[in-house]
Amino acid sequence: MGRLCAVCVHPEVEKIDTAIVEGESSLRRISQHFKISPYSHYRHRKNHLPAKLVQAKKVQEVIEADSNIDRLLVLQKEVQKILEAAKEARTWHICLEAVREAARLIELSSKISGELRPEFSVILSPQFITIQTAIIEALSPFPEARSKVVEALKSVEGYGE
Ligand SMILES: [Zn+2]
Repeated sequence: MGRLCAVCVHPEVEKIDTAIVEGESSLRRISQHFKISPYSHYRHRKNHLPAKLVQAKKVQEVIEADSNIDRLLVLQKEVQKILEAAKEARTWHICLEAVREAARLIELSSKISGELRPEFSVILSPQFITIQTAIIEALSPFPEARSKVVEALKSVEGYGE
């Protein structure tokens, strides 16, 4: 790491970045307005801003995926309604169609949530590890029960990998 970037540590860095991205003011005007040297401005724009924009895009993608899940939930409810109506009317081919559509939506939503948190695992989550430690500690006066719990935990798929 070289020396600190005058723009990155600037109290109004968000405003500066926005001004650069919007591209309405010239480099010189932005530099004058925020009292930064054109060199710092140039260096920041070239070396630091792109990474920040990529980060912002990632955040935006996660938000979009989230709202896609919301949309899927709305569709799932619609399919549910169609299924119920078709059942009542005993139009079995429409029932089957709705069931197929529901299955497809479930597959889609699990795909989206899998993309959101591909590495998510309950077993590796800090909450689970805390709970597990508490259980094993609480059982220390009962060595037999304790070793049974430990054994049971070990037989869980993915445990201790
Ligand atoms: Zn910078």
